[in-house]
Amino acid sequence: MKLKFILITTALLVLCLGVLMSCDSASTPDDTAAEVTVTPTEAPTKTPTEEEPTVSETEIITEAPTEAPTEEVTTEAVTETPEAGMDHGIVRDGTPKKYFTIRFDDGITQDEKVMEILKKYNADCCTFYINTGLYGANWAWVGQHFNRPDVPHQRYTRKEIESGIYDGFDVECHTLNHPSLKNYSERQVTNEVKRDAQNIKKIFGYEPIGLAWPGGDTEWNEQNIKTILETTNVRYGSCTTRNTAKGLGKFSLPEYFMTWYPTCSFSDADSMALLNEFIAADCTEDMLFYVWCHGYELDLFYTWEKFDLFIKTITEAAAQDDSIVLVTNAEFYQLFKDEIPAWVEVEVE
Ligand SMILES: [Zn+2]
Repeated sequence: MKLKFILITTALLVLCLGVLMSCDSASTPDDTAAEVTVTPTEAPTKTPTEEEPTVSETEIITEAPTEAPTEEVTTEAVTETPEAGMDHGIVRDGTPKKYFTIRFDDGITQDEKVMEILKKYNADCCTFYINTGLYGANWAWVGQHFNRPDVPHQRYTRKEIESGIYDGFDVECHTLNHPSLKNYSERQVTNEVKRDAQNIKKIFGYEPIGLAWPGGDTEWNEQNIKTILETTNVRYGSCTTRNTAKGLGKFSLPEYFMTWYPTCSFSDADSMALLNEFIAADCTEDMLFYVWCHGYELDLFYTWEKFDLFIKTITEAAAQDDSIVLVTNAEFYQLFKDEIPAWVEVEVE
């Protein structure tokens, strides 16, 4: 009897540890989600073998990996700051502003409904991050992970993306295959980012300059940052850890673009309260509200209405207050690239 109890306790402990370890460590003490039991962070990085995309879906990435970049290419990538993303002609006028931007990761089918809500309020402030090596991948295990097998994590096919579903929206890199980059060689990291950017450029016609780190902030390292800056045109990396957990202010601008920490996740219990605090705040210096999410989380936590209200709230506030400016992630980068360095050792010209 005693042995049985010990065995069961041990099994439960192992199970809990397993669940904890499979989540990214983006949760911080101040983002406890009261309305939910688990706040999802970035989708896990490992792609189960049975969910490998089919050959036809990976056509665009099945060519041989590119050669290691030459020194000439490296120099060019570091010194040039490419124009990218959707340009809506937003400029800075010398007065402090409150910038609002949002992001959705993974390129999954819930994005369509996300875009419907954004369009309903004419909210031109969202960037979508896609994995062009995982077209059509069905990560049903994400819903199962949260004991919600009814919640899909289904990536769009190449055909769907090429049909123009993201037209009018900013789309940036999330790597080809959503791997844990910290375990990859420099060449693999380059391949994952550069080829995702190439694929996006082919489809959307502009050069992506942004990356959302796949798998959350435990899955990349400083070497990855250096590799990406040296071998690709990507100049910012969006993170999952709240900026306050990194010693930054709730609404502060990023210190470095390659480690761009958000204000919060949309699924955090206090995201709406933070938004209202942001809207009410005096604007004496440039401020930023940067919120991130996945479309599947809105199914998971039944927060579609909350998202509708969230976007309604910020767009109505912006209509009444000239200091509030809605921008995509890439637009924010373009506005501040001359002041905020990409990374510690790489000063942007
Ligand atoms: Zn992701």
